[in-house]
Amino acid sequence: MKQSGICPKCKKAAVIQIKAFKGSSTSNRVQLSKWGTQFTFFDNFICTGCGYMEQYVNLEDKNWQKWLSKKLEDDSLDSDFV
Ligand SMILES: [Zn+2]
Repeated sequence: MKQSGICPKCKKAAVIQIKAFKGSSTSNRVQLSKWGTQFTFFDNFICTGCGYMEQYVNLEDKNWQKWLSKKLEDDSLDSDFV
């Protein structure tokens, strides 16, 4: 859907993208930390034919990249793999 612009449900080429907004809205963000101090935002792809929606985290987002690299670091410390 993101690449093709075609809805997987109704097969119409009627998909529009709504970019992530870094506003105060909580409806387009993912909480990354327990205390809610870190967030990342996602883009919405909506089919105007049937209303089906997909969401993608913006992988370019600085908060996301910071969180992800820390997460991978922590996971490798927990691992028994040497
Ligand atoms: Zn559709």
